[in-house]
Amino acid sequence: MTGCKSDKGSAAMTTSRRDFLLGSGAAGLGCGCARRPRVEPGAKVVIVGAGFAGIGAARALRKAGYATEIVEARDRIGGRAWTKETTPAPVDLGASWLHSGAKNALAGLARESGLAFNISDYNNVDVFGLSGSMVEKKPITQVYEELDIADRFKSQLFWPYLRWRLGGGASGRSIGDVWEEAVAGEVDALSGEAYRMILETQYAVPLHEEAMESLFLGGEQLPNHEWFMTGGMQTFADYLAKDLQVRLSTHVREIEWSRGAARIVTNNGEIEAAAVVLTVSAGLLKRQAIRLTPGLPADARAALDRLGMGLLNKIALSYPSVSWPVDSEYFVLAGGELPAIIANHPVYSGAPVLLGLTGGATSRRLETMSDEEAAARLHRDFERALGLKLPEPDGAAVTRWASDPLAGGSYSHRKPGARLDEGDILARPVDDTLFLAGEAIVSDDDAGNVSGAYRSGQRAAAQIAGLSAPKKRNAILV
Ligand SMILES: Cc1cc2nc3c(=O)[nH]c(=O)nc-3n(C[C@H](O)[C@H](O)[C@H](O)COP(=O)(O)OP(=O)(O)OC[C@H]3O[C@@H](n4cnc5c(N)ncnc54)[C@H](O)[C@@H]3O)c2cc1C
Repeated sequence: MTGCKSDKGSAAMTTSRRDFLLGSGAAGLGCGCARRPRVEPGAKVVIVGAGFAGIGAARALRKAGYATEIVEARDRIGGRAWTKETTPAPVDLGASWLHSGAKNALAGLARESGLAFNISDYNNVDVFGLSGSMVEKKPITQVYEELDIADRFKSQLFWPYLRWRLGGGASGRSIGDVWEEAVAGEVDALSGEAYRMILETQYAVPLHEEAMESLFLGGEQLPNHEWFMTGGMQTFADYLAKDLQVRLSTHVREIEWSRGAARIVTNNGEIEAAAVVLTVSAGLLKRQAIRLTPGLPADARAALDRLGMGLLNKIALSYPSVSWPVDSEYFVLAGGELPAIIANHPVYSGAPVLLGLTGGATSRRLETMSDEEAAARLHRDFERALGLKLPEPDGAAVTRWASDPLAGGSYSHRKPGARLDEGDILARPVDDTLFLAGEAIVSDDDAGNVSGAYRSGQRAAAQIAGLSAPKKRNAILV
């Protein structure tokens, strides 16, 4: 080692459209110093998981001259990027957007892939209140104005923020606590409910389960810069993995290691390697779905305890043709039978598909419904909101990411009491042999994203190879 203290980048202030999001503790990918490789160059490195983290790690390691193999339990690449092929356009049942568009770490590679993407406008949203017999409608821009969210949150958060920054501890409070003090009861009911739904879709948990500190991470989702990957996020993953060696349908049951040697036990035999990059979700790490011998260090286990798995589910309704208006990009349906945010797919792809997103408590309820029930509820809510009679959907896909044994939820979140350094703690190499990566192994606002996952994989590769990984989050990656 040559004097690098940690893999932490410098803290950076960011601004966002909701400027209550005050700053970010950046994880960075590396400190930029030259280091000795932790694993002998040319040695075999096994990567568990062919999601964005695994692909990011494998591409960088391959470039650095390591013999890499990805071992994936599913029969496909992409993990939580899962594209359903429909006519005339694919539909994503996992990740859809490259957040912050051109500023996203994967933007350059997305352009290189030649896949279609469209720029979303988060201001072009109609909000509907479906409680009771009346239907109330307002544009999202009015909701933002009425709520004046930024000022309310900021005034509530300033002192706790300062105390937290100075003390380095955690407040133990949730966004829900702050929400109740600052917003609930003081604003128009529909605007409050719509905004709560948006936050619960972003954090994928009820607001009482999300650490107040998460608000300081940034979460920069710019209204006119989000890239909707019309060409399919899994298709993008396939493109990135096209030259990689991937063993599909191979379920890892156990990893046994000592410094410099690992034995990976799968349903299909054993593999030996000099190091392992483990990219399964935080949910699977928490429930020890893969037996690790020896187990993770105590600080890593404590950091995992401070994280949870959020749940965002999707319902894709396909119709014989588009028989609804396509001037709005999104519809927020608050109340009704199945509160959801609907992406108006034909706006981007021309496909006659309504793509519903549900986060938090509604998402949990959805996992217990049949496909037919979920589809019928969303269809009826949409008809009621728009005042239309539509033909019945001719197809529906409903996700249940919490019940998926290879995901264990949609993406990580921070429980009240989290300190925001959990990703960096989990990213510390274990005996220079076990390296964790994945969307949760990130301590900045890119946690939970495909780009964060990819960057974390590249950070693990940089640790292994002694490379200096890009410091800037939007630097062009391998
Ligand atoms: C509904 C939904 C919407 C989302 N929307 C967005 C979005 O718009 N934009 C965005 O940036 N992000 C979004 N995300 C989050 C994003 O999909 C994830 O952060 C990202 O895909 C995680 O990548 P990963 O490589 O860390 O994990 P994964 O993609 O989960 O990869 C891990 C891989 O490990 C495999 N695996 C698990 N157990 C084993 C085992 N025992 N043996 C072998 N293999 C195993 C899994 O099958 C999986 O392929 C969304 C997620 C969901 C669910």
